[in-house]
Amino acid sequence: MPLHQSDAIILKTYPLGEADRIVSFFSRDRGKMRGVANGARRMKSRFGASLEPLAHSRIQFFEKENRDLVRIQTAEILDSPMKLFADYDRAVCAGHVVDLVDRFLPEHEPQDAVFRLVRMTVRALEEGCPIEFASCYFDVWMLRLAGVFPDLFVCSACSRKLELQDERFMASGLQAVICSACDHRTATGILGDVVGLVYWILKSPLDGNGGEVGRGLRNLHELNQYWIRHYSGR
Ligand SMILES: [Zn+2]
Repeated sequence: MPLHQSDAIILKTYPLGEADRIVSFFSRDRGKMRGVANGARRMKSRFGASLEPLAHSRIQFFEKENRDLVRIQTAEILDSPMKLFADYDRAVCAGHVVDLVDRFLPEHEPQDAVFRLVRMTVRALEEGCPIEFASCYFDVWMLRLAGVFPDLFVCSACSRKLELQDERFMASGLQAVICSACDHRTATGILGDVVGLVYWILKSPLDGNGGEVGRGLRNLHELNQYWIRHYSGR
């Protein structure tokens, strides 16, 4: 049984028996995995806070052949999310981040871009980024990295490249855009503010300042929630 080590983000934990825990974690090198941490529910557990949801920890684990669950040997905390969980709204947003990673990430597939996205979002939230903005930014990128965020900059009918200021419509089903030159009778308009915001999000890193909280953000938030519901049932 070889011992592996990887930096990981803790996603969820479940009690197992009297003293143990099942831990779902997103390992940087190996992707999403689940493991058993023996004794993690005891008062004086050697794991401390290293297995709390959203903790960034260095985990050592044994992998058993033909077994889904690895055995977590040690976990050392690199960065604690305690600051986030002290504020209710930020804690809810952090919970949403964990939930989406858990839903959209396949098991055993390393995805460094998603790992970096989670770390960046957590840091921005800690540094005071407006919660609605951080949440929207994370959703756009998570959906995009999962391969389901529609391309707003190419017409799905004629393949014409669309500029920021071009008028465009969302095809029925809200999964593709159509330019104004193509038949858009059954399509619905999309706010220029939304397109501008997506453009910004795809070009800029997120930090503590975030961005503008306005009509475009509310609209994009609603679209994101629609796509999350639509695609997470796959
Ligand atoms: Zn077109």
